[in-house]
Amino acid sequence: MIKEIKVKTALSPSQLPGLDHALNPYRGCAHACVYCYAPSVIHWDKGKWGELVEVKINLPRILSKELRTKKKGVVGLGTVTDPYQPAEKKYELTRRCLELLLMHDLPVCIQTKSSLVLRDVDLLKEFSDIEVGITLITLDDRVRGKMEPGASSVDERLRALAVLRENGIKTWVFLGPMMPHITDVNALLDAVARVMPDYVLVDRLRLKEGVWENVRGFIHEFRPELVNESEKIFQGGGEYYGDFFESIIKKCRSVGLRCEINRLGD
Ligand code: SF4
Repeated sequence: MIKEIKVKTALSPSQLPGLDHALNPYRGCAHACVYCYAPSVIHWDKGKWGELVEVKINLPRILSKELRTKKKGVVGLGTVTDPYQPAEKKYELTRRCLELLLMHDLPVCIQTKSSLVLRDVDLLKEFSDIEVGITLITLDDRVRGKMEPGASSVDERLRALAVLRENGIKTWVFLGPMMPHITDVNALLDAVARVMPDYVLVDRLRLKEGVWENVRGFIHEFRPELVNESEKIFQGGGEYYGDFFESIIKKCRSVGLRCEINRLGD
């Protein structure tokens, strides 16, 4: 369900490394990822995550005003919810915000799980400083379909990365959450290396409120024999994650990918 809302502010200060401002055209996200922790970040109390998306219809107008006075800085587009989720096809809020940011030529960092980003290549190419990150958690589209049911397929995302790169746009891949026994690390990194992003950022499962219950439900349905071990890993497996990440770093080196581990919150 879509609900149009009006907002009073557009840009907010960002706590994420490398970003100064956060800009989120949508509240709620129809990608409905099993591991999503955005509901706890925005204190979502409007029912099941993924079923309602609030569309900030006056956002471009507010952003346009703010850009006249705000201090310049890097804008993170889609820091909480996906800026290219299905509603964007109709509302084009992300595109209109990009047009405004381009007028001021602000540095922009986008993160998405949708190949709809390709619609805006014409604009993205014009920025002097922009990067687009695409999330991948597996190469197996059956797993993707269960974990990120509303998002683009794995192939669509890999193709999007290739096309962005062909157009000279800086790209990165967010490998998160990487999940032991579920993420097919070697195959995934081989596929990512073929589209050669500028770098990859690796993250673990973030167990904010409600996340484990959802992920547990997924594992129970997908590979029930992994539930107990997964619980041990995710609920306190710092050591396991150390080894797991080490194997990812080694694999990245062997395929020529520049790799960073997300230490935020460690
Ligand atoms: S795309 Fe991001 S915000 Fe949307 S459901 Fe998935 S994890 Fe949450």
